[in-house]
Amino acid sequence: MAQLGGVPILILKEGTETNKGKSARDSNIQAIRAVAEAVKTTLGPRGMDKMLVDSLGDVTITNDGATILDKLDVEHPGAKMAVAIAKNQDELVGDGTTSSVIFAAQLLSAAQDLMDQGIHPSTIIKGYRSAMSEALKIIDNISKDYENNRDILEKVAITTMNSKGIAGDKFLIAKIATDVMLKIKEEKKSSYNSVKDIVVLKKRGKSIHETELIEGIVLEKEPVHPLMPKILTGDLKIACVSQGFEIKKTEFSSELRITSPELMNKFLEREEKAMKKFADKLKEVGVNVVVNQKGIEDMAAHYLYKAGIFAIKSVTKSDLEKLAKATGATIVEDVNTISPSDLGYAKRVECKKIAGDDLVFITGCKDPKAMTILLRGGSSSVIDEAERTLHDALSVIGTMIDKKRYVAGGGAVEMEISARLLEFASKSGGKEQISIETFARCLEAIPIALAENAGLEPIDIIAQLRSKHVTKGNDGWGLEIYSGTVTDNYKTGVIEPAANISTFLKSATELAILILRIDETIRAKKTSGPPRGAGAMPPGAGGMGGMGGMGGGGMPYM
Ligand code: ADP
Ligand code: MG
Repeated sequence: MAQLGGVPILILKEGTETNKGKSARDSNIQAIRAVAEAVKTTLGPRGMDKMLVDSLGDVTITNDGATILDKLDVEHPGAKMAVAIAKNQDELVGDGTTSSVIFAAQLLSAAQDLMDQGIHPSTIIKGYRSAMSEALKIIDNISKDYENNRDILEKVAITTMNSKGIAGDKFLIAKIATDVMLKIKEEKKSSYNSVKDIVVLKKRGKSIHETELIEGIVLEKEPVHPLMPKILTGDLKIACVSQGFEIKKTEFSSELRITSPELMNKFLEREEKAMKKFADKLKEVGVNVVVNQKGIEDMAAHYLYKAGIFAIKSVTKSDLEKLAKATGATIVEDVNTISPSDLGYAKRVECKKIAGDDLVFITGCKDPKAMTILLRGGSSSVIDEAERTLHDALSVIGTMIDKKRYVAGGGAVEMEISARLLEFASKSGGKEQISIETFARCLEAIPIALAENAGLEPIDIIAQLRSKHVTKGNDGWGLEIYSGTVTDNYKTGVIEPAANISTFLKSATELAILILRIDETIRAKKTSGPPRGAGAMPPGAGGMGGMGGMGGGGMPYM
């Protein structure tokens, strides 16, 4: 509401709430701190898991920051932004989501203290910005090149998996993940993006320990004709086809009037001929196996069987693309135009039944650029968490291969940056000095949370870490959770891609700055539309019902 000569002028719709200055900022900061509180206890190897029950009663048990935040039904606009940076972190490097939210919350709560001391937000923002860009330089300086050392790739994968439920099988998974990433590596393509070319097939039964890498593609299908062989070996030619082997149905409903038995026969003959043509053409170019994205009619299946061609139908587009990548085939849209150069290659096609499901293994491809990991596990929640963990492992390996540089984990890199930033702050002078120092101290939130979660004394650990990092050349010294000691984590192998750290620092700082710049929130009146989602529960009745139960004291809404 504005005033003009004593007459109030309404510029906003009735019911609009506005919240200005300190209270607008505080509300956002509180919300982000509540989100950080919710995920903080999951950080690191001794972090706890969360059991999330959604409004439909589906249960997810996870330790993954991104997954927890994704499943929370967050209302508060500030909290939504925190969830968004975690998602962004997850997309960019696939790891470090919890750290990014914890650090952002720390930056904000420290900024709140500075503002209470009378420091203007714009000074804090300036200091945070310069601290962040200095931190990135420090990371460049202290990080090491992995020099195509496979051992390093396995170690970064293990560090990521330390904090996940499958800790016991991490060595096997790290080996499989490294194998697959090195095998599908392509000269000109980012390895991080190649993670998409890996099919993760989850099958219940046995244990995670039975997880295996299949150098080829496994499809959850069975052959279209019961008499087709269960195993084919030799130099098999594979056709990947996106055209259905069926009579085209018209878009509109039509009626066919057949007046005599001859006409009926003629009609069927034509259909048969069309179906036979598919098989004839494939046979002509020497196809042994055809995989079709669309349908294959019984009649076509019959002719394919007669022609000695093994066939699978209704494969998803993405599976067909991966199969083409693995076998070196080109996907063909019209069988009439198929030529031998379109065909892919495999040495073995085998039908197997696993956990009651029919699977077709297509293996022995030449230098395949897409592969399958057959993930096993006792129950679906175990397999789901294993899949998320595997995804993190694949992502960090991809990041390592692309970006090449790594740093020591367990708080080592954070403490080193912190120490170097304190030096930088003392040299910088000026008004920003305090906020650069504050930024440096905020980095301690990561080792503090790691220590707290492991039941160690954080004050003691931080004191040890600080005294190590004051001296240059100790940048590997961090907390090693399993031994509960402060050691050189380059030696213990607790290492992480440098990009994990630089990305989380950047995204957390950006979020903090974004929030600090806000000095007014204007919220439109809620429209009373239908409730969100079918069968939605009243707020607070089970489900996640906002953050109330998790945020430690709940979150004040504006
Ligand atoms: P995020 O979602 O941020 O990746 P995690 O729960 O995966 O959070 O925890 C990652 C943190 O755990 C990193 O700081 C990493 O260095 C640390 N970490 C992993 N393994 C160890 C270990 N053995 N000792 C100490 N810290 C470890
Ligand atoms: Mg992690």
